[in-house]
Amino acid sequence: MRVVADLHVHSKFAMACSEAINPDSMAFTAVEKGIDVVGTGDVLHPMWLKELRDKLEVDDNGLYKLRASDNPARFVPSVEISTIFEGGDKRIKKIHNCVLLPSLEDAEALSKELAKYGSMSADGRPQLQMSAAALVDAVMEMDKRAFVFPAHLWTPYFGALGEMSGFDSIKEAYEDREKDIHAYESGLSSDPKMNWRVSALDKYTLISNSDMHSLPNMGRESNVFELEKLTYDSIIGAIKANNVDRFKQTVEYYPEEGKYHYDGHRECHYSVNPEDSEASVCKVCGKKLVIGVLHRVNDLADRPVGYTPKNRIPYVHAVPLIEVISYAKKKTRYTQQVKDIYSTLIESLGNELDILSAVGIDKIAQVAGDDIAQCIENVRNEKITIKPGYSGVFGELDLLGRDRHQDNRANRQKSVSDFFK
Ligand SMILES: [Zn+2]
Ligand SMILES: [Zn+2]
Repeated sequence: MRVVADLHVHSKFAMACSEAINPDSMAFTAVEKGIDVVGTGDVLHPMWLKELRDKLEVDDNGLYKLRASDNPARFVPSVEISTIFEGGDKRIKKIHNCVLLPSLEDAEALSKELAKYGSMSADGRPQLQMSAAALVDAVMEMDKRAFVFPAHLWTPYFGALGEMSGFDSIKEAYEDREKDIHAYESGLSSDPKMNWRVSALDKYTLISNSDMHSLPNMGRESNVFELEKLTYDSIIGAIKANNVDRFKQTVEYYPEEGKYHYDGHRECHYSVNPEDSEASVCKVCGKKLVIGVLHRVNDLADRPVGYTPKNRIPYVHAVPLIEVISYAKKKTRYTQQVKDIYSTLIESLGNELDILSAVGIDKIAQVAGDDIAQCIENVRNEKITIKPGYSGVFGELDLLGRDRHQDNRANRQKSVSDFFK
């Protein structure tokens, strides 16, 4: 069976996350999106854990589902944990780690254990005074079936290989517990092609998740598995195997759209392609730039741009449907018209992943008009341009070539296809 999974999400109990995220709305959204399995997010938070216990029950295969409901969405207990510690170089390191657990009982036990290192109730994403290695130790000690992986590997502030952490390998970041790390999350600002340039990452499986802070962002990145049976162990097994028979593909955000792709300074509205500039200094304020994901990948890459390994998991780029509609209609994603078109498309044509990747363009045009259909066709064919994101600012999509005639803007842009030469 084909299984689409988004294993890193957040609940209403995490900092800066939507109040609307609860078990019911998550299950409903998962079905709209075409997601079969979603992380619970924030599972160590006592109030969220209580809510999950009230609302969810174990299905026949040991995964979680809405209690007394025929909603097909399944939940895996999951949490993102920030570890804060001093590295060997005496600098403070902050690394975000994702943890998957087989059961809510495990979550309760782990929540008690990790409370020694920081508050479990202050934030759905606990901030713990312990090293990343000590975290892996505590998690694996509690249950050998638990699964830990570095979140958004390259992002500047909290990625294990990001600029601020200063680690140059997963081994450096996780020390002797690296033996328990089998996968990493590529994050929104990088895609497989970028990661394939770093041979040291070959031994880990690349996985892709949304890291959603609000429901419309669920599934903006995801993993597609082929499993005999939908169980916790079969999902982990498929990730560890890193073989295309069981791990069919990842669905990826265009990395230029991610908010840490280029180097830059948000406050100064200044960004730079690290390939064009040696100096990482802001031309506006003169201070050091926030070093983006592309820069870090270039620093650690030992293979040329465009390198494709033999045994690789395929991927596709996607732009979330709500962003496509918002672009086509020149209205923000929060306007009623944009939301209405989204609902009409889902009601008429099926789930979002199918609409983005499989439904006929003519059918989409009949329901939503030629402009939206053209945008989706252009995304599928990678015929779009993006002004790359930087320093916390998302990239700007151009799905219909509207900016092509505005020379002053065009020269700041880079065609997506340029990145894949
Ligand atoms: Zn994070
Ligand atoms: Zn600046």
